[in-house]
Amino acid sequence: MKPEDIQELVKRLVERELEGIIPSSRPIPIGVSARHVHLSGEHLEILFGKGYELRKLRDLSQPGQFAAEETVTLVGPKGVIEKVRILGPLRKRTQVELAKTDAIKLGVDPPVRDSGDLDGTPGITIVGPKGAVTLEEGVIIAKRHIHMTPQDAREFQVQDRDIVRVICGNERKVIFDEVLIRVSENYALDFHLDTDEANAAGVKTGDTGILLKYRGEVKVPEKRYIQKRLITEKDVREAEKKGYTIILTKGTIITPLARELASRLGILEVR
Ligand SMILES: [Zn+2]
Repeated sequence: MKPEDIQELVKRLVERELEGIIPSSRPIPIGVSARHVHLSGEHLEILFGKGYELRKLRDLSQPGQFAAEETVTLVGPKGVIEKVRILGPLRKRTQVELAKTDAIKLGVDPPVRDSGDLDGTPGITIVGPKGAVTLEEGVIIAKRHIHMTPQDAREFQVQDRDIVRVICGNERKVIFDEVLIRVSENYALDFHLDTDEANAAGVKTGDTGILLKYRGEVKVPEKRYIQKRLITEKDVREAEKKGYTIILTKGTIITPLARELASRLGILEVR
């Protein structure tokens, strides 16, 4: 950090200190991601042969995501790492996610990025049983993040792309700053760290962390309601986007799909 950055940081921390820190009451499960590779269909065929399909070893915390039985070897300018797990399903672009320690061993210098943001990142050579691929770009250190559903986001009072902090660990507690919030109905609550981050705090998959917010960042949402004669799935989507609640009173007609969705999102109030 440059001296002016440190000054700015101290100023920010002092201000924040005065505002007070509010910990979340619900703990967040931690998922530690070891180095891994997401492959495109084209690269899978080069590495494993034409028509090859990944075999599932185990499901991951995020619905639909899995660890494959297959592994590859990564070859960098300074070193080699064998048995690097492939995660499925296949993606549009091949992406290699490393911890900083792995990157040093391989001799590459990847930036900290969100998954999928690969422009201008370094490449690497991936070796499989049937062939090898040399990527032009695609190696990143994943930005630490929390996956959650819209319902979780309401509970934690955060929004997609917010940056928060999480405290975790026992004898070597660490507060992780710059934690990205990612919200989708297809996610399950999980705080994703790489192995370097997890080791620094002495945590492993299945441990939990506490989300920290500064008082100034906590907005108490004004509750707004949608009350109509007929409520369809479209109304529920609209309400969800605006942070509104659907009220059902006697005489309100709601389609079964709309009811199911509103109740799953936690924005249904029956009066
Ligand atoms: Zn993740």
